[in-house]
Amino acid sequence: MAPLDKHNSLKHLPGVDHLLDLAKKDDRFIGIPRSVILDALRKTLDHIRQDILADIETSTDHDTILLAANILAKEKVRPRLVPVINATGVVLHTNLGRSLLCEDALNNIRTIAQSYSNLELKIETGKRGIRYEAVDDLICELTGAQSAIVVNNNAGAVLLALNTIAKDRQVVVSRGELVEIGGSFRVPDVMTKSGCILKEVGTTNRTHLRDYADAVSDSTGLFLKVHASNYKIEGFTASVDLKDLVLLGKDKNIPVMEDLGSGTLIDFSKYGLPLEPTIADSVRTGADIITFSGDKLLGGPQAGIIVGQKKTIDLIKKNPLTRALRIDKLTLAALESTLKLYRDEDTAIQKIPTLRMLTIPFKDICKKSDVLFKIIKEALGDLADIEVAHLNSRPGGGSFPELNLATQCITIKPKNISVSKLEMRMRLSTPSIIGRIEDNKYIIDPRTIQDGQETVISSTLAKILVKK
Ligand SMILES: *Cc1c(COP(=O)(O)O)cnc(C)c1O
Repeated sequence: MAPLDKHNSLKHLPGVDHLLDLAKKDDRFIGIPRSVILDALRKTLDHIRQDILADIETSTDHDTILLAANILAKEKVRPRLVPVINATGVVLHTNLGRSLLCEDALNNIRTIAQSYSNLELKIETGKRGIRYEAVDDLICELTGAQSAIVVNNNAGAVLLALNTIAKDRQVVVSRGELVEIGGSFRVPDVMTKSGCILKEVGTTNRTHLRDYADAVSDSTGLFLKVHASNYKIEGFTASVDLKDLVLLGKDKNIPVMEDLGSGTLIDFSKYGLPLEPTIADSVRTGADIITFSGDKLLGGPQAGIIVGQKKTIDLIKKNPLTRALRIDKLTLAALESTLKLYRDEDTAIQKIPTLRMLTIPFKDICKKSDVLFKIIKEALGDLADIEVAHLNSRPGGGSFPELNLATQCITIKPKNISVSKLEMRMRLSTPSIIGRIEDNKYIIDPRTIQDGQETVISSTLAKILVKK
């Protein structure tokens, strides 16, 4: 375009105020705030100006501009946090939000959120109360601990406990337990941030009680055991039992802390899963302080729970960091309702989604899978090879490392598009459906699929495969 023509095109671009007036009368913009429309119009006009200057063919008519601005504006108001369908079979999927809350927790969140509450008020005396007292007693009742406090998450709990107990002192940890948990939680880094000095002992695969004993000096402040959440060392290995570390701690007058990561209140071995020590086991063994997450095996909201000796918990309560890491009232409401269900284990298993999905009997998974298979087969006909396959689900969330849970999946091999394209299209549909690929087949694991999602899955599959 000649410079003069460019100048003319730019001059004749409609004004933003005029476009805004048009947009106000345009149904496509209903419900979109004025500021968002204005911003979208400006961005669209900017684009067009740049295209004109770069000699890229572009349209300057009002309708094209409004359409482009409408797409931008809608993108801006679209919710970012949206539900997705978890067809991966990974029950505690950190990227997908870990635990689903039980009905009781959801109801209680609503009750507490829409009303004033006694969050920090003692109703009996009219005096100021302490927020986490709502669940302290309950946690002690369920774990046998002397005292408890809840904070924002377990990373915070570990930071707070280390900072309170062993600031400026050495914390002795086995080299086999210097773990990294997804999302950049690394034990050595948290140690530094809490003001403690890491004292590594043993080797990656073997650490003995004498390694801890030999490391003790005047500046030792704590023995720390970290649950190897997301990995397992196999072969020529040795680690020190909590029980022996507690005895050594008593002997040397050094407190012992255990970061359980994904702590559990029930014994999963009764349901065919491997034996994981429960929080009550650790309390009974005599650890001074134990920390764990609220939204892993517990199946509640994101929280960090610290239990242990009253004198240590009292010190933690006085640490100014506690205020920075405090739990909010909605989480507290959800946590109280979830924990209450644990008073009766059968009720907990039935009502807490994480527990239900982890303990669902194999024959029930097969039933669920057979139903899903039928629905999908009906929707897809000959568009894909559809089969059921006996595969494994992973618990996830740093619980039961390396455990495979037997499951029956649906495998889909589309005839007209690639498996990776199917995976992508399922992920990009609304609602997003997250499956996995194995052996060049698209895998749907019924373990984590919720009631009512079956037909959404089958109709989305059909839409994708019919359209190609
Ligand atoms: C998951 C985990 C954490 C972090 O807990 P969040 O609740 O995610 O903050 C810390 N330590 C261990 C051993 C874990 O498994």
